[in-house]
Amino acid sequence: MEYEIELEELDCTKELGEKPVIVAGPCSAESEKQVMETAGKLKEMGISIYRAGVWKPRTRPGSFEGMGPKALPWLRKVKRELGLKIAIEVAQPAHIFEALKYDIDIFWIGARTTVNPFFVQDLADAMKGLDNPVFVKNPVNPDLNLWIGAFERLSRAGIKKLAAIHRGFSYFGLTRFRNVPQWEIPIELHRRLPKLPILTDPSHICGRRDLLKEVSQEAMDLNFTGLFIESHINPDVALSDKDQQLTPDGLKKMLDELVIRKEEILDKDLLSKLQRYRKQIDMLDDELMDVLEKRMQIAEKIGAYKKENDITIFQTTRWNEIVGKRLIQAVEKRLSEEFVDKVFRAIHQESIKKQNKIMNE
Ligand code: PEP
Ligand code: MN
Repeated sequence: MEYEIELEELDCTKELGEKPVIVAGPCSAESEKQVMETAGKLKEMGISIYRAGVWKPRTRPGSFEGMGPKALPWLRKVKRELGLKIAIEVAQPAHIFEALKYDIDIFWIGARTTVNPFFVQDLADAMKGLDNPVFVKNPVNPDLNLWIGAFERLSRAGIKKLAAIHRGFSYFGLTRFRNVPQWEIPIELHRRLPKLPILTDPSHICGRRDLLKEVSQEAMDLNFTGLFIESHINPDVALSDKDQQLTPDGLKKMLDELVIRKEEILDKDLLSKLQRYRKQIDMLDDELMDVLEKRMQIAEKIGAYKKENDITIFQTTRWNEIVGKRLIQAVEKRLSEEFVDKVFRAIHQESIKKQNKIMNE
């Protein structure tokens, strides 16, 4: 697919600083004291971009919805006195105009705004001519094209300094997470737009402190650009998202414990070992492709046979038999049932497609 994005220029790495980039700050700016104290501690740790919510999109009415414009002078004070760059969420053009009066550096578009192309377009129009970096959170629904669409709208409006924030996706069902990470989506985003920096927001993925390290480590292991994470001077009394915020000290401890792995292997021995493994994988993939080819050839024969004898393509009992058998085998072969189920579903679908084509030729 071709995207209407200036790929070469779509990059705000300079603004972000060195990898891993850590953007941190409270969910909400609550008071001048809370804003200044949190920022002071984060600055001591070497954080240079400070996040804080001024207008808060809340799931239900009646929750704390942010301090609004009153908080902007506090954030400007952080910028002036501590030299941190300030990032806030904007959801309406009016938020941008207000924020500009207070010299806010970076805007982010929240997950509940990215879902709506009208809102994103209004924001893009309001940002025309600005040089500020803009971060775009993934939409709450797992729709990669919608996420990319937001970058395209901003890019068309001339915004060049873009970055993505991966904050997880709504999920109705049992899960440990507040928003399931679905790592395959930011991974695919990276494949399609390799220059776009991706920050993972473990706070809104986890919704609870005890999972933050695991998710942050995964983002590091995937070689994402960095983290966008909530930190509050006193999370117990936070007016929003108290269960997922870390104190600056807690954040420092977690960051110190993360393992930052190398991007490239410089050691020759390690490299040749890895290359040997990769060769083996390539050979196995060749075999896999051959087997798939053969399997589909048989499926075509079955299709022809069913056509001759006027039998329907899809037969539930046969399908249940196939999956049932393979799911039992999955355990023996130490493959997850979820994975085996996915693979066989995909193979079966392709097989039905082939048979369908033969039947209707
Ligand atoms: C936030 O970052 O505080 C926030 C409201 O996040 P999201 O848009 O991911 O829900
Ligand atoms: Mn929050």
